[in-house]
Amino acid sequence: MNKLKDKVAIVTGASKGIGAGIARQLAADGAKVIVNYISSKSSADDVVADIEAAGGMAVAVRADVRVKTDVDALIDVAIQRFGHLDIVVNNAGIYQFAKIEETTEALYRQQFDINVLGTLLVAGAAAPHLGRGSCIINISSFVTRVLPAESAIYSGTKGAVDAITGVLSRELGPRGIRVNAVNPGMIETEGTHAAGAMDSDFQTWNEGLTPLGRIGQVRDIAPIVSFLASDDAGWVTGEVILGSGGMR
Ligand code: NAP
Repeated sequence: MNKLKDKVAIVTGASKGIGAGIARQLAADGAKVIVNYISSKSSADDVVADIEAAGGMAVAVRADVRVKTDVDALIDVAIQRFGHLDIVVNNAGIYQFAKIEETTEALYRQQFDINVLGTLLVAGAAAPHLGRGSCIINISSFVTRVLPAESAIYSGTKGAVDAITGVLSRELGPRGIRVNAVNPGMIETEGTHAAGAMDSDFQTWNEGLTPLGRIGQVRDIAPIVSFLASDDAGWVTGEVILGSGGMR
């Protein structure tokens, strides 16, 4: 319950889906949480209200992870509001599958800018504030292991996230900062509903390849992130951890 007591966390893209679940879980485990969003202020406010109703502390902050000035301001809020920063969860991300013939500059830039540039900007802005015992957790994806057809751009972004995770674990490890990735399988979220993935052939394909025989829920991922954020994972860094019901 209090394994993250006195820790301060930023969760990007925490107004919905996996990020909202992670924010709620980290707060339930004792962290003070910055709930980042880009457009869904009322959803972010709802996450904050839920956390406060449960006795936790949180604040919603708008920032576009693609924009360095926004990201710098996001980190500043954490420091000014709570005094320090211990846990950074790079969750904000988008996914759009497309056949290779349908590749466009726009599809590439949309996904790489949020999933990769956003991860780099947030990690870079946070790093000077992170001390011994702190951590960065990147939300990657099972696609980097499964490599589904028609996911070249999205899988490319998450392959980059896996690589960045390993690089930063080496770069920041000497300062006592751990860096890990959590790679969810298909999870029911606002995003997967909006993408038309729910109740689709893609869901059936996922279920068929998943030893546990179902797709995931946000509650399947959030506790993994909380464990990695805690001192219980103090000897774990540079790992890419599948949370996918065994799909690989
Ligand atoms: P989601 O339900 O679509 O939520 C996306 C979140 O990201 C929202 O809070 C959104 O904010 C935020 N966001 C989007 N662009 C942003 C930006 N430029 N700056 C800041 N925040 C931004 O997504 P999800 O399904 O939970 O996925 C979350 C993460 O898990 C992504 O990195 C995704 O690649 C990864 N993942 C998902 C699945 C899955 O099956 N769901 C599987 C593997 C990995 P607003 O609400 O304000 O727009």
